[in-house]
Amino acid sequence: MDCIFCKIAAGEIPSKQLYSDETVYAFADIDPKAPFHALIIPREHIGSLAEAAGHHKAVLGHMHVTAAGLAREHGLDNGYRVVINTGPDGGQTVSHLHLHLLGGRPMAWPPG
Ligand code: C5P
Repeated sequence: MDCIFCKIAAGEIPSKQLYSDETVYAFADIDPKAPFHALIIPREHIGSLAEAAGHHKAVLGHMHVTAAGLAREHGLDNGYRVVINTGPDGGQTVSHLHLHLLGGRPMAWPPG
């Protein structure tokens, strides 16, 4: 499958690794939208959150616990935001499920 995030998780495309285990891979976003901007992706190819099913509960939980750990590790003690853009209206541009972890500045609400 020609998926850029599958290739990043497999090490076929270079990235700045922030965390890795058998289930998820986390790396620095190439075009950061905040002082700290990580992407947490499942190693399994899941196109988007819209494909989530019962058997994805563990991996979705794993992604969020990884985000919380990275936030602690990188000192985001004043708060942060996690985002999963989903589909065209959600602003998703890469068709491999990914959780954005953004921090290091106050976040606006509502998002654009
Ligand atoms: O949620 P969305 O699909 O728009 O996010 C994709 C993210 O992947 C963007 O923030 C973009 O900067 C990032 N990206 C990356 N490395 C790539 C391609 C995209 O970090 N090679």
